[in-house]
Amino acid sequence: MAILYDQEHSFKERVKNSIADDFKHHAIKKAQDLFHGKRAIQVEAVKEWQDFRQEAAEIRDHVLENLDYYLNQFADNAEKNGAKVYFAKTDKQACRQVVDIFRSRQAKSAVKAKTMVSEEIDVNHALMDEGIEVNETDLAEVILQLDNWNPPSHIVVPALHLDRVAVQKIFSRYGYTGSEEPEEMTRFARHYIRKKFLNADVGITGCNFGVADTGSTFIVTNEGNGRMVTTLPKTQIVLMGMERLVPDLDSLSVMMELLIRSSVGSKITSYVSMTNGPRKQGEVDGPEELHIVIIDNGRSEILRSEFRSMLRCIRCGACLNICPVYRHITGHAYGSIYSGPMGAVLTPLLVGYEKARDLPYASTLCGACTDHCPVKIPLHELLLQHRKNIADRDGLGSTMEKTLFGMAAVGLSRPSLYNMGTKAAASVMKLMAGKDDMIKKSRHMPLLKNWVQCRHMPLMKKEKFRDWFKTYQSEK
Ligand code: SF4
Repeated sequence: MAILYDQEHSFKERVKNSIADDFKHHAIKKAQDLFHGKRAIQVEAVKEWQDFRQEAAEIRDHVLENLDYYLNQFADNAEKNGAKVYFAKTDKQACRQVVDIFRSRQAKSAVKAKTMVSEEIDVNHALMDEGIEVNETDLAEVILQLDNWNPPSHIVVPALHLDRVAVQKIFSRYGYTGSEEPEEMTRFARHYIRKKFLNADVGITGCNFGVADTGSTFIVTNEGNGRMVTTLPKTQIVLMGMERLVPDLDSLSVMMELLIRSSVGSKITSYVSMTNGPRKQGEVDGPEELHIVIIDNGRSEILRSEFRSMLRCIRCGACLNICPVYRHITGHAYGSIYSGPMGAVLTPLLVGYEKARDLPYASTLCGACTDHCPVKIPLHELLLQHRKNIADRDGLGSTMEKTLFGMAAVGLSRPSLYNMGTKAAASVMKLMAGKDDMIKKSRHMPLLKNWVQCRHMPLMKKEKFRDWFKTYQSEK
């Protein structure tokens, strides 16, 4: 089952396992290229894209600066619509509130759709401990659940690491005898989930956005399961991170414009579902009661910290789709339901540096994530801030690291030493290199071991740019 953070395996172990999985690599590369290409076409088509990004960042910042006001406004309006609103400070409180709703209705089964925050608070465990049957209904989540709750590897495409053969094998454990054709397997899944929909006592969804001045919640889906979860069961629970608000429907349209193009590279999505309270008299469908649990779980602290801009995140996944590190280590290496650059920033904020201090180092700091983020979160700067905090807290790492950085500080602050040092380094590297002037795995040295495990390292040139430039000028 997906949990917020895997503490059983170290970051290095997870990376090693992921790198060893060729299929996962291939799948992630293909998906990254596909999503990135589709997004680029959609972005190109919107001339005002950068204006949209700026406006979206300002809307998100405005909400975060006035979060207490908008939370109250949202809760008041949602209650006027007939919903019951609860505030949960911690993950445990949120789970308790959900379990209490089940107990008071003597509910025995749930169907879920589109809710990452439910993984964050681990509500599945809380419900299953009470003997409640929990069923995912997003197709990818169904596949992962049937595969013994295999954890997601992408925030938008959770089963990205499984191909059709793997899915066929998983389904065959539940009576599927058909081919590997997606259409046939989808028919099987549809039939399987439909029974769950019809028997469920409670529907649980997440919330892409809550609109403060109408008290409505919105989910964006491609499969239609969100509509079934929000209309068939008598009781509906919406789990909402407390930062997921926009002031009004106009601001929502800006967010939608960016979210859909950034996440899957489409102009529009198949379904945008708006929930505006329980079923009213005369309406033909909808739940009889609606509960909205607004979850803090560390967000107040993030709001007060230098990481506030991370709360602008609309979970589009664009930063994963461009990240070179995500491409190589894949989603599972992060050990968190939140992977890629956004996960490397967010997870340590939610679980603490004690548990997730390695994640901010899973980045080249190239800044591509920042350039792609539709709400302009300075992701690479936040990763650097994490590294600074970790160094301030724990000091630098090993004795070797401290010695090397000490030597670098001395060398870099004295030009003559720097000159001598780089020339000496070039000579030492020459000794370590093969005939083709490359340092390779087979000739590894302790300091370069990790680097040359993955790629060959070319030699440094003995001639410095400055020397070359001097010669060039004198020959002119
Ligand atoms: S950090 Fe930005 S790009 Fe990444 S998921 Fe969040 S909104 Fe999307």
